[in-house]
Amino acid sequence: MKLKFTSHLANRKYGYFSYLAEIIALFAIYFSTAKLGLSLDAVSRFATLIWLPSGIAAAALLLFGYRLWPGIIIGAFLVNLLNGAPLFVAVGIGIGNTLEALVCTYLLKRNGFSYSLDHLRDVLLLLLLAMPLSAIVGATIGVSSLFLGKVIASSSYYLTWEAWWTGDMISILILIPFLLTWSKWPRGKVSVKRSAEIGILTLLVLAVGLIVFLGLFHADERSYPITYLVFPPLIWASLRFGQRGATSAMFALTILAIVGTIQALASFLPGRLSMSLLLLQSFMGIIAITSMILAAFMAERRELEQRKDEFISMVSHELKTPLTTIQGYTELLHGRFAQQGNQEALLYISKMAAQIGKLSKLIADLLDISKIQAGKLAFAKETVDIDLLVREVVEDLQHTTSQHQISIEGIAQREIVGDRERLGQVLINLITNAMKFSPRAERIIVHLSHTHDTLTVSVQDFGIGIPKAHQQMVFERFYRVYSDQDKTYPGLGIGLYIAHQIIERHGGKMWVESVEGQGSTFSFSLPLAGEA
Ligand code: ADP
Repeated sequence: MKLKFTSHLANRKYGYFSYLAEIIALFAIYFSTAKLGLSLDAVSRFATLIWLPSGIAAAALLLFGYRLWPGIIIGAFLVNLLNGAPLFVAVGIGIGNTLEALVCTYLLKRNGFSYSLDHLRDVLLLLLLAMPLSAIVGATIGVSSLFLGKVIASSSYYLTWEAWWTGDMISILILIPFLLTWSKWPRGKVSVKRSAEIGILTLLVLAVGLIVFLGLFHADERSYPITYLVFPPLIWASLRFGQRGATSAMFALTILAIVGTIQALASFLPGRLSMSLLLLQSFMGIIAITSMILAAFMAERRELEQRKDEFISMVSHELKTPLTTIQGYTELLHGRFAQQGNQEALLYISKMAAQIGKLSKLIADLLDISKIQAGKLAFAKETVDIDLLVREVVEDLQHTTSQHQISIEGIAQREIVGDRERLGQVLINLITNAMKFSPRAERIIVHLSHTHDTLTVSVQDFGIGIPKAHQQMVFERFYRVYSDQDKTYPGLGIGLYIAHQIIERHGGKMWVESVEGQGSTFSFSLPLAGEA
């Protein structure tokens, strides 16, 4: 086994004293948590089911390097010696416990284990390889030392080994992920909403822990298996807060469960504490595995989403540059052919320009999506005359269609403060959609109205309409309504998402009313100037 004696946390050069201080710190933590564990009804006096040191030791080696191993061996040796083990037995246990932490660290490091446990692979590496194998090493050397030192008889070998192995595995399972995910402090600001969610979730975890494991309310656990109450907060933590949330919730629940079981109040079989602890630890192990796997799946999904966003952003940026050049040359050619009076060439050039226009609109939309995702969509603040803006957009779009007659009804008679260009973009999107999705209709009506504090603009068409079930979803990213009978319409399903975001960022609302086969009315309302 090739061990690299370097530190994970920093590449600082550690002095002799800081190295000594780290070893003493690890020894102190190891010794005190081991003492606590051994005081809790250890099987054959030495094998306890509450064995925090295993997880702490391996996490310490992972984070600070293999070189801290003396802290483990001294801690394990002394605690067992003071617990009444003969000298050679205590040495044996010390070696076994140290090897356990080294094997666990080696297996994880060698296989490229990520400390954030954000891939299923990392979770499985811990669950199926490092955790059981290293605990086998610790349990086998420890229990064999007890047996060879005649502390236990051969008849109690298996029972002791089982308790030792289970205790070590649970410790590794709960503590390594918890300590590793918190070894890096989360970056970035936490919004008020998210802080509130964390607060509520914390209260829920504590409440569930108290009810389930500490017998709060003295619920009759035999008729209602209240232990299942742990699942909702754990699932919530895993889905919304990833591995850090899952492992923290799990850690808090485990502490409460252990305290509860020790007080013999928890809802597990009455009887000897070690038996209850074995059942409890198995239960905690299973829910820890479930929530960690769930959190890893969610993290993988989020990563995929992020990669997709990055891809869209990159592609749209890459496409924009050559397109701008093509646009420039097209304009140049247009000028040349106009001078020569070459009508045929001008016709082709204008067709080309129309297609280039479509392409740049698509790319602009994709760029907007990236900006929205990154929270970078900027807005100007100017006074906008909505009546004028609507008139201009309608006039422009009227030139592009001979089939539809676009009319304006009502008057806004009010100004609002906002980004003129972005609001124009919303109107263009709604009216072009109305044209696209009403291929057999002739009319499109833009309604304008206001109350004392809001202004409303609606675009009504008499086209294919939208089934009720899809109406709210059309404002989502990449959402398009598909129907077997309808012909397909071109588009990416992002126009309405962008429009919705623009209106929301102006403090307004956007909605749709539609009847399938009869048409749709898309509306948005905005706060009037001085009212927002
Ligand atoms: P795109 O039109 O590019 O697909 P949008 O985000 O503008 O993207 O629209 C999303 C979906 O909403 C469309 O694919 C269509 O299914 C539906 N939709 C939007 N406007 C209308 C409309 N006026 N009539 C019927 N369906 C519409």
